[in-house]
Amino acid sequence: MKNKNSNPSIRCSVTQCAYHCGDENYCSLDKISVSRCAAQVTDCAGTECASFTCRPGAKLGLNNK
Ligand code: SF4
Repeated sequence: MKNKNSNPSIRCSVTQCAYHCGDENYCSLDKISVSRCAAQVTDCAGTECASFTCRPGAKLGLNNK
C-alpha cells in the first residue's frame, strides 16, 4: 500500500501495524510513543511502540500491505 506518507525519521519493520508504510519500512505517523514493557529495561526487548495499532487482517495472517 502506498497511500501513506513515510516519515523518514521513524524506521519500522512492523508490517502488522496500521501505520506501517507497506513497501517502505517506515512509519507514517508524525510522532510515536515508546514505552517499556518490562519492569527492568536493560535492552531494546524491554521497550515497545505504544502507538502500534493492529492492521485489519493482521490477526488472520493476511498480507494486505
Ligand atoms: S506506530 Fe509504531 S509499530 Fe506502527 S508503524 Fe509506527 S513505529 Fe511502527
